[in-house]
Amino acid sequence: TPKLEIKEVGKTFKTKSGETSALEKTSFSINEGEFVTILGPSGCGKSTVLRIVGGLEEATTGEVLLDGKAIQGPGPDRGMVFQSYTLYPWLTVKENISFGLKLKGSSQKEQDDVARHYLQLIGLEGFENHYPIQLSGGMKQRVAIARSLANDPEILLMDEPFGALDAQTRNIMQEVLLKAWEESKKTILFITHDVDESIFLADSVYVMTARPGRLKKKIPITLERP
Ligand code: ADP
Ligand code: ADP
Repeated sequence: TPKLEIKEVGKTFKTKSGETSALEKTSFSINEGEFVTILGPSGCGKSTVLRIVGGLEEATTGEVLLDGKAIQGPGPDRGMVFQSYTLYPWLTVKENISFGLKLKGSSQKEQDDVARHYLQLIGLEGFENHYPIQLSGGMKQRVAIARSLANDPEILLMDEPFGALDAQTRNIMQEVLLKAWEESKKTILFITHDVDESIFLADSVYVMTARPGRLKKKIPITLERP
C-alpha cells in the first residue's frame, strides 16, 4: 500500500457570499520514502490539501489514508513545516528539537543524543543553546526541519517552507533538506509555486490547476541529482 493516499478529496469553504470551492476531487498517492512536490499557482488550493492531510482542516468530500488508515485530526505521525517559523521562542535550539521527545517521556540522554544528531545533520552544531530570536531566517527553518524529523513522523508535510528566504539562502536550504531526506529516508510532501524548486527537490511533481485546484498530471523527475 502507498504511504499516503488522497482519494477524491474536495473542499468548499463557507463565505459571507455563499460557498467557495478551494479544491475539486483530487486523488494522488505517495510511496514510502518518496519526495513529492505539488506545484501550482498561488491560490490554487495547495495549502488546503496539505492542511487536510495534516488534519488541520476537514475535507468536504473524499478521504485521506496514512498507511492504509483514515487520518483523524492532527497527530505526531505527520510533521509539519510552514513558511513562518513556528519555533517555541522561549526554548533553545536544542530544546526546540527535542521537545516532542520530552513530551513522549524520553530520557534526557535520548533527548540530547537525538538533538545532537539533528543539529549535525542540519549544520547547526554550536548553536544548541541559542534562542530562535538569535538566528537568521534560514537557520530557524533548519531548526524547524530538525524538530519535525526528531519526532520521527511517518510523513513530513512542508508548506512553502523557504518562501520567505532570499534566493541564496533558499538554495542552501534546498541542499540541506535533500541531505536530511536522503539520510532520514522520510516520505515528504512539499508544496510550492516555484518550478525550479519543485524540480530540484522532487522524485515526482504533481501539477495543480488554477483554482479550484485539481491535480492535472504527475511528472516523474528522471534527472540525476548532483
Ligand atoms: P495555495 O496554497 O495554492 O496558495 P490555498 O489552499 O491557500 O491556495 O487557497 C485555495 C483557495 O481557497 C483560495 O482561493 C483561498 O482564498 C481559499 N481559502 C483558503 N482557506 C480559506 C478559508 N478558510 N475560508 C475561505 N476561503 C479559503
Ligand atoms: P543560513 O546559513 O541558514 O542559510 P544565513 O544565510 O542568513 O542563514 O546566514 C549565513 C551564516 O551567517 C550562517 O550560516 C551563520 O554562520 C551566520 N549567522 C547568521 N545569523 C547568525 C547569528 N545570529 N549568530 C551567529 N552567526 C550567524
